[in-house]
Parts: sequence; structure tokens; C-alpha cells
Amino acid sequence: MMHFRWFFSPLARATEVFPRLMLVISVIASVAHLSFIFLFDSIGVGVLARANIASVLVYALAALLTQQRRALLALQLMAIEIVLHGTVATALIGWTSGFHYYIILIIPVAIVSSFYRPRVKAAVAVATGLYYMALDMLFRQAPPPIEVPSQALTSLHYFNQASTLLILGLLATMYFRLVKSAEDGLRELACTDPLTQLYNRRSAMDVAQHEAAVFQRGGRPLAVVIGDVDHFKRINDQHGHAVGDIALRAIARALREGVREVDHVARWGGEEFLVLLPSTESEEALRVCERLRQNVRALSSQNLGGADLDISITLGVAVLQPGESIEQVLVRADRAMYEGKQAGRNRVVLAGQDGAPTL
Ligand code: GH3
Ligand code: MG
Ligand code: MG
Repeated sequence: MMHFRWFFSPLARATEVFPRLMLVISVIASVAHLSFIFLFDSIGVGVLARANIASVLVYALAALLTQQRRALLALQLMAIEIVLHGTVATALIGWTSGFHYYIILIIPVAIVSSFYRPRVKAAVAVATGLYYMALDMLFRQAPPPIEVPSQALTSLHYFNQASTLLILGLLATMYFRLVKSAEDGLRELACTDPLTQLYNRRSAMDVAQHEAAVFQRGGRPLAVVIGDVDHFKRINDQHGHAVGDIALRAIARALREGVREVDHVARWGGEEFLVLLPSTESEEALRVCERLRQNVRALSSQNLGGADLDISITLGVAVLQPGESIEQVLVRADRAMYEGKQAGRNRVVLAGQDGAPTL
């Protein structure tokens, strides 16, 4: 069970997870069959005890093959073992022994496997189902050639039934978690800017819309900040795009580290950032922005990308007004930022409430 966390790394692809699933199953199956050897030996069914030695070897081989990245071969070996074992045990000690249950497991495993095309999967599933029903018709009523003491037979039946149900539950859980982790990973990917790992513009807009709706319903205030890196083109031109990227990442980190957990920092565009400060009025917002400006400025002395960079940012702040849309407050923040650029950059400007920014 401990392995399952390692099993489902975020964004793990089915092609990677399936071999891991195979490895876990083959190890569990080896151990289970090892105990069957002793069980059959103790109830005097030597032929099945020996058959289980072969099964243990098959599962050990399957584990080895999976580790050598030959999971498909391992899967096929395991399927053959399950069918043979289920058939031989059913034929020798009867339908009641319940060894046939395991055959059913081939259906979900084949369908979840990443190796086959849908048509092959469907064929395997149908063939397995028909084979299972044929076994039922042949052996349910037939008296078995080897008579196992009835108590041992009943125990075997429920052990096999419980194991099959357990494995079914395990498979469903694993599959659900695989789908869930893939979904979480995709959602995170869709909301994240790959360069800075900040929110991207689209998810920032979702958050902004939500915060605006909260405020307009009489909730907490919202300060909106647009920051644009000063003369960023020069950094690219003088030191190259790669150094520009390093600077952008450092700026993103400085912004993220300069605000509270509850605040949101996003990459708004190329070298523009959006900061959303919930529960923040203009005075506090100005204080936060001033701290951000200084944090970004301090990056100039950090020899980023092995170069002496002149890094600064101009920030425009606007506090959302009653009846104002998020688009309108963004326009005011943007205008305030633009005012800051014209006034000489590396500064913070608070937008006026009527859309006319004040320095
Ligand atoms: P200003 O102070 O007026 O904002 O000047 P600026 O040079 O920052 O503004 P301008 O809009 O002229 O240039 C922005 C530059 O940012 C141009 C573009 O190549 C660069 N840029 C945008 N996205 C990226 C990126 O992901 N990586 C790098 N390295 N540069 C980027
Ligand atoms: Mg810009
Ligand atoms: Mg710029």
C-alpha cells in the first residue's frame, strides 16, 4: 500500500503507471501463490501444490520482465497463468473452489492496459467472458476427480472470492486515482504559466471575477495591481532572451514572496504581472506595492544569469469601486501603471476613482 503514492505522481501517464501496477500485482500474486503451495500440500493435493510452484515462478518472472520494461510480455504471461490455473484447479477440485473468479479480472486489466487498441481490448474482454461462462457450464455440476475436504473447499472458495473482490476494488481505486491525478495535473497545467509557475492570465481572470463578485455583493474590498517590468527589452537585447527568462522568473518569485498567502500573483502578459489583493484598501495596497517594487529593484544586485542587470518595475494600483466591473478596474490600474512609466518608471501609482490616475 505504501507504494501507491509513488505510483501516482502527478501527470503520470497511463503508459508509465501500468507497468507499475503490473509490478505490484505480480509481487502480491507471488506471495499468494507461495501460500497456496503449503495449503495444497497440507490437504494432500500434490498436483496443485506443484502447479503453484510453477505459478510462483511465473509471477516472479512477470515482476522481472516488468522491471526490464517488458510489461506487455509480463501481462500476457500473467493472463495465461490465471486462465490455466483457474481452469486446472476448477477441473480438478471443482467449481466450488472458486479459482475461476480470478479469470474475471482479466477483463478490467486488459481494458485498463495501455498496450492494446480498443478493438483488441474488446475481443479479449468478450473472449474472457465467454470462456468464463463455458467453464461455468462445464464444471458447475460436474463432480471433481479430486475430492478436497469440504471445510477446506469452503475456505478456499471464500478466500478466492474475497481476493478477487479485493483485487477488483484495488484496480478500481488505482484507476480512479490515476484519472484523478491526471485531471488535477491537467487543470494545474491549464492554470499555470510555464515560465514562472504563476497563475496564467486566464485563471487570474477567473479569480479576479470571483473576488469582484464577492465585493459587489457587499463582501471584502479588492485591490488590483498591474506591474510592468521597466525597459525589459533592453535586458533581452543586451544579455539575451535566456537571461531575460531568468530575470522574469526571479521577478515572479520576488512578487510571490512579497505578498500574503491569500493574495494572487499572475503573469498577465510577457513582462507584465497582475497582483490581486483581497481585503485590501488603497493605503495598505500602496504599502504592499512599494514593498514589491523594492523587492524587484533589489534583484539588480543579485547577479542574475551571471550579468549585472538593471531591473525595476512600475506598478499601477486600483481599488475596486461599488458597481465597477473587473474590466473597468483593470483599465484604471493599467492607466496608473502607464502614468508611472511616463513619470520615470520604477514607481507605484494609485489610480483615481474616476479613472484619472493620481500620482
Ligand atoms: P517599458 O519600460 O516601457 O515597459 O519597456 P519594455 O522594454 O519593458 O517594454 P516593451 O513592451 O517594449 O518590451 C517588452 C519586452 O518583453 C519585449 C519582449 O520581447 C519581452 N518579453 C516578453 N515575454 C518574454 C519572455 O517570456 N521572455 C523574455 N526573455 N522576454 C520576454
Ligand atoms: Mg509591457
Ligand atoms: Mg515593460
